[in-house]
Amino acid sequence: MAERVAGPEIERLIQLLARLPGLGPRSARRAALHLIRKRDELLSPLADAMRLAHDRIMVCASCGNIDTCDPCAVCADPRRDPAILVVVETVADLWALERVGALRARYHVLGGVLSPLDGVGPDDLNLGALPDRVADGVREVILAVNATVDGQTTAHYITDILAPLAVKVTRLAHGVPVGGELDYLDEGTLSAAIRQRTAF
Ligand SMILES: [Zn+2]
Repeated sequence: MAERVAGPEIERLIQLLARLPGLGPRSARRAALHLIRKRDELLSPLADAMRLAHDRIMVCASCGNIDTCDPCAVCADPRRDPAILVVVETVADLWALERVGALRARYHVLGGVLSPLDGVGPDDLNLGALPDRVADGVREVILAVNATVDGQTTAHYITDILAPLAVKVTRLAHGVPVGGELDYLDEGTLSAAIRQRTAF
């Protein structure tokens, strides 16, 4: 066990920072020290922003996105084509696709994928409202789910529940690692995967 170098308040800051994805104990200490040095310019505004985000964040009842309003800014945007619905696993995937900006569509966030081994069934995902959303004027559903076994199981399940609606179902270009990995793709690859989408 390493020697404690600071008081409990600072140790707690370091411990919390170390829980962030991509930060280990060493980088958490570095980040804490940086925040402390920039107390007025960074630490204080960051604390305020976190508190505000905590108080105002809500899940969009329509699509499952995270925003400070419901419906979210994406659902409320009148410039989007309401005939295209992109199904993603997570909010991170939605944000990754928005970062590329190749689609002016609406989204449906599942909140995960079907996984029999992990006990994740259809009722655990945001699937119940999907057929009704699609029936409401959607012409194409783009399945931007993971290329893993679970992702493909989920894609097949969705295709089955949408079959009675006779809607066009497509998926991102084959061979592209999608799902939780969308965020790691460069914009060119992601744009190409969207443009070259194929019928499911
Ligand atoms: Zn929304």
